Amino acid sequence: MSDTKTQLAIIGAGPGGYAAAFLAADLGLQVTLIDPEANPGGVCLYRGCIPSKTLLHAAHLVQDAKNGEQWGLTFKDLAVDVGALRQRKDRVVAQLTEGLGQLVKRRKITYIRGTAVFKDDKTLEVKDREGEKSALRFENAIVATGSRAVSLPLLADAGERVLDATAALDLEDIPDRLLVVGGGYIGLELGSVYAGLGSKVCLVEMMPELLPGVDRDLVRFLQKHLQGLFDDIQLETTVTAVKKQKNGVMVTLKDKEGKDQNRLFDKILVAVGRRPRSDGLGLEAIGIATDDQGFIRVDDQRRTSVASIYAIGDVAGQPMLAHKASHEGRVAVEVIAGQKSAYAPLAIPAVVFTDPEIAWVGMTEAEAKKKGLAYDVARFPWGASSRASTLGAPDGLTKLIVHPDNERILGVGLVGKGAGELIAEGTLAIEMGANATDLGLTIHPHPTLSETLMEAAHVFHHNAAHYYTPKRKSK
Ligand code: FAD
Ligand code: NAD
Repeated sequence: MSDTKTQLAIIGAGPGGYAAAFLAADLGLQVTLIDPEANPGGVCLYRGCIPSKTLLHAAHLVQDAKNGEQWGLTFKDLAVDVGALRQRKDRVVAQLTEGLGQLVKRRKITYIRGTAVFKDDKTLEVKDREGEKSALRFENAIVATGSRAVSLPLLADAGERVLDATAALDLEDIPDRLLVVGGGYIGLELGSVYAGLGSKVCLVEMMPELLPGVDRDLVRFLQKHLQGLFDDIQLETTVTAVKKQKNGVMVTLKDKEGKDQNRLFDKILVAVGRRPRSDGLGLEAIGIATDDQGFIRVDDQRRTSVASIYAIGDVAGQPMLAHKASHEGRVAVEVIAGQKSAYAPLAIPAVVFTDPEIAWVGMTEAEAKKKGLAYDVARFPWGASSRASTLGAPDGLTKLIVHPDNERILGVGLVGKGAGELIAEGTLAIEMGANATDLGLTIHPHPTLSETLMEAAHVFHHNAAHYYTPKRKSK
């Protein structure tokens, strides 16, 4: 077993690990990045954000083509070439991951294609693709091993007819009848992909609402759209049994009244959450503490209970989002490089890339209510937005959660076309401590959807040009 040394070892090359590695190299540290894939990317690039958004774009194009009739545009003979679409998605992934590989080389980062486990608080055992083991001594290490999908053991009998997100993104075929279990991010995004491409989608969610925890006035618009796109959406419903048959899988669904329904599906997509990938890394033996859900415990500097070892990204806690992982990676590296740094975001944006998109940042109304905090809400409906009219996208809403005394923007919620892009302005507003007057005084380009943020601030002051609101609602 050979023995090598590095200043900083990073285990896992997802958006957390590679962002950390790149910054560390830029700051002059000697870095070794370890991951089983040929290039960096992690779940986000290979099996998550990027392939799903590529396929969602295709599904949205189908919808746009169908909606073309409203503009007098009729596209005849729309056909889906699954093979070509799969290739397109694979090319996008390859282009981005190979690009990251180039950035590794340019920065002279040592990239090891393999896996690592801790031997002690200064040594990793690295296993390469041939199974060859070597020891890697480090001054500091960052654990960035991400998360994996939660499975439902009950569905084991359905065998290859059960898909997780990774298998669904492989896009082997477009099943006629698809059951989606879970009405969270993945269920809604990938359910939309398959429904858009032609599957009859039935979605079951065990809670009384889709996207539990997200403000209902935002979800309402999406739910309305999905009710048209999906065959059916069943809330407070779970799968209680599955039986594989020649022509599909017979699924028993139990609804909120306890009634059973038997339904035949070709495939089942399971999207019931993800859990941290903290097992099998030798963490316990070296005294790295995890919480009861398996997340590695970290402090504000992203330091674990072992001083030389840090943890970032999905493995280090919620929210399990790529941009949160990258930000934590930068914080950990700055700390390791001796800079004063802390993970203290005022706001982490979240986006569900459905049609319409839902995005929120900072405090939600549901959270403010639950905590009994004083807040005002200013809502600007997109029916009053000229840009939304030009786009044929009036089904949208921009809302601001505002501090009633100092007018500080506490939260922003958006639903509608391009909400995921618009939320960045809300994030900056919160981070900069902007108030409703700041947002209202900022000249926004016309006609754009970004004006809805400015007009929502005007709604707060009851003087929006395009939406008359005589009275302020105070909570
Ligand atoms: P990961 O990206 O999970 O990377 C961890 C890496 O560590 C992996 O490559 C893994 O192989 C490697 N690894 C694990 N164990 C070891 C070991 N022992 N040794 C070496 N390497 C190891 N987030 C968003 O923000 N936006 C989205 O649009 C979005 N879409 C998603 C869609 C889907 C279908 C899924 C599943 C997730 C999506 N996410 C999205 C979540 C996002 O992918 C994760 O939050 C993000 O990838 C977390 O980054 P990470 O660096 O913590 O870990
Ligand atoms: P999720 O936590 O977003 O949603 C899971 C849903 O499944 C919940 O609504 C839950 O109530 C439901 N559920 C759980 N068990 C169930 C059961 N037995 N029957 C029916 N419903 C059940 O999880 P996900 O959709 O798997 O996504 C995992 C994580 O990946 C997300 O939380 C997010 O952090 C990340 N992600 C982000 C994006 C994005 O940023 N656009 C996209 C995909 C995934």
